[in-house]
Amino acid sequence: MGSEGNRAATDFFEETISFFEFITESTSFDCMDWEEQGASLMVDGKKFEIHASPYSLGCDVKAPLVVLSSVEELAAVNASENIFILRGELTKEQLMPKNFPFYNPEQHQCIIQLLESKNPQAIITATSRDLEMVGGSYPFPMIEDGDFNIPSVYMTDEDGDKLAEYAGVPVELKSRATRISSTGSNVIARKGERHDQRIVFVAHIDARMGSPGASDNASGVIVLLLLAELLEEYSGELGVEIVAMNGEDYYSNPGEQQYITLNKDRFNEIILGINIDDVGYSKGLTAYSLYDTPENITDISNSVFSKYDEFVEGEAWYAGDHGIFLLNQAPALAITSNEMAELMREITHTPNDKPDILDRTKLVEIAYALRDLVYEFEEHLRA
Ligand SMILES: [Zn+2]
Repeated sequence: MGSEGNRAATDFFEETISFFEFITESTSFDCMDWEEQGASLMVDGKKFEIHASPYSLGCDVKAPLVVLSSVEELAAVNASENIFILRGELTKEQLMPKNFPFYNPEQHQCIIQLLESKNPQAIITATSRDLEMVGGSYPFPMIEDGDFNIPSVYMTDEDGDKLAEYAGVPVELKSRATRISSTGSNVIARKGERHDQRIVFVAHIDARMGSPGASDNASGVIVLLLLAELLEEYSGELGVEIVAMNGEDYYSNPGEQQYITLNKDRFNEIILGINIDDVGYSKGLTAYSLYDTPENITDISNSVFSKYDEFVEGEAWYAGDHGIFLLNQAPALAITSNEMAELMREITHTPNDKPDILDRTKLVEIAYALRDLVYEFEEHLRA
């Protein structure tokens, strides 16, 4: 988000989709780009491997180490002139960013408020994995928040155990990281006569920093472009809106927030909101799941997808852009890979998410199925 690559992706999307006779609009918003040139940690002549937390401020500090393993210990500590290392129970989950609007557990907010009130010189988080929120990264950054202003870095839980032996000893922490104000945009493409009755397709076009993002989510964006190509001749009444959503893997979801704001009071016009994310994995099948759909939409969807060999009805999941529709009382459909668990464990958000893990024929099949869905809905609307 906000990087040169991200802007190249949205420009490419807009240029390509307008070629298929869609009317396009690009809506921009402020966001933060971020750069880092490494981080180092020395204590007692010993060096530890650490990484700057994404979107964190940089630092160059030397201060005694305070080891904290629970919320109670964090609440009791009184030491602004120190560097904290958080570990154990405290670092099991990635903290939701402090201003994240959609889902924000009290426990996370409590930890953030305590950290801000204690105001240490810097924070080291020692982590293992958080498959659900961060995918396969080990270690994962516990803090990934451009609105949180205490410098932070992260390391493995194993190194954290070793570092914890230096409680009270001064540690020297340097992190060269820079926040850069930037902009990003959603791209919205429209076709069809009636926009007060429309079907919306979304795929997030941003990728997690440090991951090539082939499956997550170039795959979904490619399906949108293939679908647009298949709808080049579409001239029905039913409105079709195709959105390259920018921000699903960015800490504050700015594209999602903007889309919700711009469509405030218009979600009742959406017959179905379809999210395509992490599709085309070479192993397994394509999984679809329906959320709050009326019976006729459920029936049409089931009947269209049943004609395609590689489609199965999969489990419901909620951490995706179909949440935009659900939160606003519009029915939704999500399309992903049914080997999601394996993807999350080994590929999602890691450097392994490269094009060679995808089966392109699956992407083509999804585009055909979605085209069929548009024409079925169109027929149903006229009936
Ligand atoms: Zn994704």
